[in-house]
Order: sequence, then structure tokens, then C-alpha cells
Amino acid sequence: MGRIFCMLLLLALAACAGTAAPQAGARRAIDVAAEQYVRLALEIDTHEEGYVDAYFGPREWRDQARANPRSIYELQRFSWRIEDEVNSVLQDRDDDTRRRAFAMREALRSARFRLDMIGHDFPWAGLGTEAEFLFALKDLPYYEFPHYEPILASIDAMLPGEGPLNERVEAFRARYVISPDRLQAVMERAIGECRARTRAHLLLPENESFRMEFVTGKSWSAYNWYQGNNQSLIQVNTDIPLTIDRALALACHEGYPGHHVQGIYNERNYRERGWPEYSVAPLYHPSAPLNEGGGNFGVEMAFPGDERLAFERDTLYPLAGLDPAGARAYHDLQQALNELQSARLMIAAGYLRDGLFAAQFRNPNARELAIEQTMNYLLVSRARAEQLIAFTDHYRSYVVNYVAGEVLIRDYVNRVAGDEEGARWAAFERIMSEPTLPRDLQP
Ligand SMILES: [Zn+2]
Repeated sequence: MGRIFCMLLLLALAACAGTAAPQAGARRAIDVAAEQYVRLALEIDTHEEGYVDAYFGPREWRDQARANPRSIYELQRFSWRIEDEVNSVLQDRDDDTRRRAFAMREALRSARFRLDMIGHDFPWAGLGTEAEFLFALKDLPYYEFPHYEPILASIDAMLPGEGPLNERVEAFRARYVISPDRLQAVMERAIGECRARTRAHLLLPENESFRMEFVTGKSWSAYNWYQGNNQSLIQVNTDIPLTIDRALALACHEGYPGHHVQGIYNERNYRERGWPEYSVAPLYHPSAPLNEGGGNFGVEMAFPGDERLAFERDTLYPLAGLDPAGARAYHDLQQALNELQSARLMIAAGYLRDGLFAAQFRNPNARELAIEQTMNYLLVSRARAEQLIAFTDHYRSYVVNYVAGEVLIRDYVNRVAGDEEGARWAAFERIMSEPTLPRDLQP
């Protein structure tokens, strides 16, 4: 008798779990709001292709969104109704519910701002405003151009010679290009190492894996398309030859512990904890700085201290057919170049301001100016500068996520975990596993 009852109970539970949309009255307000948020994001995607970067929720939700998308105006109103529900649980006694509610409120604000941008020829409100509304980011790490002069001077001293500094840097970097016939092997080895080092600290599902493809004609240098079921498609753009430092940078950023692992944690929150909002990953979302920052910082997580240099020199250089004797010099140059990365913010801010102002104020030379600033302050070739500006054309203020996100995550991990490796990974994991907003990482 007891056993039959147990079996009946199990069947009832199984029936519940298998139902796509249980009775609203039986569900908690936060989960109802979360499902509506997912539907909102899927409908926004019908107005802006690419808005949804990854989705692994019920297929019928996406079919319904595509079959009958509401207007931008109606979606705005819908988002406010969802926010009313979210606001009703901001003071909930349950920690997770409260944090999910705060995170979703910011996600709704981001969605509404994006709808404004899609719906109109939206005026430029400034990089800081877009960063705040789309990505919940405040206090961007801005520096005026003179801040970079001492860094440029130190690089100039490393590479004495004639001609513009960016050309000298390019000539030096050309000696570290991975030849195309070795690229596959080098990338696979790099990703394999990032995976092993990540798996030593994070519990990843047995079936997780990725597929890698080489592509051309893109404004990004690599992209992770998370497919669901713990699988990713990682595309690497070969428009510009890849130098040896890019192997670990891309492997960690797109793969482990970066975007592929972030996708796995999102899916876990959706499937195991039953949090619907994690089934969708909009590109413009308050998690973007955490994802991009986590991707960039991932290489320091997996290769602390001198371990990156050692692995590149001893393993990747020989595999790429490069002379390991040059590894230290290139590593030092790379470190200095990294300090120039934040100049992307100042360049993008000026370019977007000049390029997006009302037509009568528009600076016709804005694009050329931005390309030259990119060459002069990031010390890259014209081709790479054009690629970076094309990225800004396409994704507008998205660039803030790389620069500001990396600073945010590095400072957080250093502050809460110090030098202890286990504690550092635990801090890094918390950002992916718990409902987190950029401001949660600030002191
Ligand atoms: Zn990324």
C-alpha cells in the first residue's frame, strides 16, 4: 500500500515536472514574472535579430513569440506589468527570490531601454547612460588620453626604431603569428588546457563539450554560441592572423572558464533550480559585463602568476612552430599593451557621440578619427582598428562590458579571496551561479 502510494506520488510529481506551464495560481510570483520576462525577450528578438544570444527554454515559447509578436509599444507596457510583479517580491523573506527580483528588475530596465533604441532613431545619450541602462554599469574606468602617454613611452622604449609605434608593434607581433596550418592544433591544445584547469575547480557536467569553427568577415574576433544541453559552438575569426597570445585568450574567454562555462551555469539555474529567466540570454543585459569581464579575467583564473608564460613557452610555442626563446619578450609587451585596452572606452565615447548626433552636428570625419585613435592608442594595424570600429558600429556601447567588466571582476576576486586559489575559484563561481548584478561586486 505504502509503495503504491509512493509510486502514485512519484507519478504526480513527474506529471507536474513535465507540464510546460503549470497553473499560474500554483506558482510563485517570481516564477510567473520570470516566464513573462523570457517571453518578452523572445518577442524583442523578433524586432531585433540577434537580441537573444542564447535560448534553451521550451520551444513553444519561442514559437509563440515568433507567431504573434506584439508591437514595441505593447512590449514596453508588458515590461511594466512584469515589473509590478517583480516589485511585489523585492522584500521577500527568501534570499534567492529577493536577489532574482532585483536582477530581473534591472533586466527589465535594460529591455525597455533597448526597445527605445530599436523603436526610434534613438538619440545618443552618452556612453555612461547606455552602460547604466543596458548593462547596469556605473563608474566606467575612463581615462583621458594623456593617461596613456607613459605607457606608450614604455612600449616605445621596448621597441626602439623608426616609424610610427603601432607599425613597430605590428612588425614585432608578426613574428608571433600562428601559421594557418597549425592553428587548429594550437587552439585545441589551448582549449584543452583551459578546460582541464577549470575542471580542477568547478564541477562541470560529463556531457559538456564544444565544436570549433574558423570563419571570416565578422566584426568580432571570436564568438561563443551556446546551444543548450551543455554544448557550444565556438567560432574563431581568421580575418586577421592570430598571434600566439590569442590562443589562450580566446580559449579561456570563449570556452573555459568563460562563455561556455557561463552557459552551463545558466542552464543549470534554469533546469535544476527551476529559474525560467536563466533559459534566455539577451545580448544587451546586466549580465553582459559579468560575462565579458569573466571571459577576459578567465585567463588569469586558469593561469595565475607566471603559469601562462610557462605554458605558452613550453607547449604552445613549439606546437605553433615558434621559437620559445622569444616568449618572455612578447609576454612583457603584451602586458604593457593590455594597459592600453581601456582607451577603447574614450575612443568609443567620442566616436559614438560624433557619429550619432543629430545630422546637422555630425562630424563627417568621426570614423577616420576613431580609426586613427585606435591605431595610436591601442597600437594596432589599420585593419585591426577598422575591425574594432566596425564592432562599435554594430554593437555600439557594448565595448564597455569588456573593459569595465574585467576591472569589476578582478577587483572583486582579489578583494574577497586574496591569493588563496580555492577561494578565488569559489568567488569566480558565485558570480555565475547566483543572481548577480554588477553593483553586487562593488565594495
Ligand atoms: Zn565575449
